Amino acid sequence: MATVEHLSPLWDAFRKELAEVSTDEALTDLRDKYLSRSRGAVTVELKKLGQLSAEERPQAGKLLNELKLLVEQALAEKAGEIREKQKSARYQAERVDVTLPGYAYHTAGRHPIRRALEEMERIFVSMGFSIMSGPEVEVDYYNFEALNMPKGHPARDAQDTLYVTDNLVLRTHTSPVQIRTMEKQKPPVRIIAPGRVFRRDSVDATHSPMFHQIEGLVVDEGITLADLKGTIEMFLKAFFSEDTRIRLRPSYFPFVEPGAEVDVSCIFCRGTGCSICKQSGWIEIMGAGMVNPRVFQILGYDYEKYTGFAWGMGVDRIVMLKYQVEDLRLLFDNDIRFLSQF
Ligand SMILES: [Zn+2]
Repeated sequence: MATVEHLSPLWDAFRKELAEVSTDEALTDLRDKYLSRSRGAVTVELKKLGQLSAEERPQAGKLLNELKLLVEQALAEKAGEIREKQKSARYQAERVDVTLPGYAYHTAGRHPIRRALEEMERIFVSMGFSIMSGPEVEVDYYNFEALNMPKGHPARDAQDTLYVTDNLVLRTHTSPVQIRTMEKQKPPVRIIAPGRVFRRDSVDATHSPMFHQIEGLVVDEGITLADLKGTIEMFLKAFFSEDTRIRLRPSYFPFVEPGAEVDVSCIFCRGTGCSICKQSGWIEIMGAGMVNPRVFQILGYDYEKYTGFAWGMGVDRIVMLKYQVEDLRLLFDNDIRFLSQF
């Protein structure tokens, strides 16, 4: 009989079971249990309506339909609750914990030699110089001959050369770039040539078979030794500090005449004497000189009309001085613990 008394336990049982449901699957099972077309508890009751008398049927049918509606509403509400729970669970899982410590990324940096070269280039470019480059595997003519070092010249022996063939060498200095530039370009010439050079040297704290030089060349009418001194002094003041002083000592290089060693006042003790400058107050920094007319003659320049000056210096040594690096090998080992200090 579909009376209130008969249906109340069914409703109570449904409510009790509904309260236990927390997943989509359990909810589907519960819906089937009460509403499925074949064996749902409410459906079964509805099917029994046919057995009732004509007087009983409308009242029982009304009650059953109300019950069915209540069950459907309760199931729909539960479905909504489950959806909300799932959503918040997903948000919780996807939540970013902003209090977690971040990853420490290593930032890349420029190698100290590259930094020094870029600084030197910047200074010379601001003084009106152009940057030139040349091959590292060089023809004998450019590395020696055109620089006034014919075959058999004693100066060749001083540069422990790495020969590729009888006529090809790994360039021992950046000076061949001077020759290559002057071959292509008539004066005025105002260039710098930074790059790698090679010598047959064993590796130790102060020697490497590969190192870096920067070379400079100025050729024009009326260029004098005073221009050489002024240019180099201006550069060294800009690179080290305004109170840097220089001095020139006579020296010999086959491609300049006169030639000079350039000393800079010690950048550590400001010239008063320390262990780095061996108490002299001076540090040898580069070789320089007026371009030997013989070089102009080889190149077909009018050496009565033009004069010029050139200089060259080791970049690695300057980096060692500037950053107080005691072992040259550190610059080439690429140990990240060393490089990350710059
Ligand atoms: Zn000193």
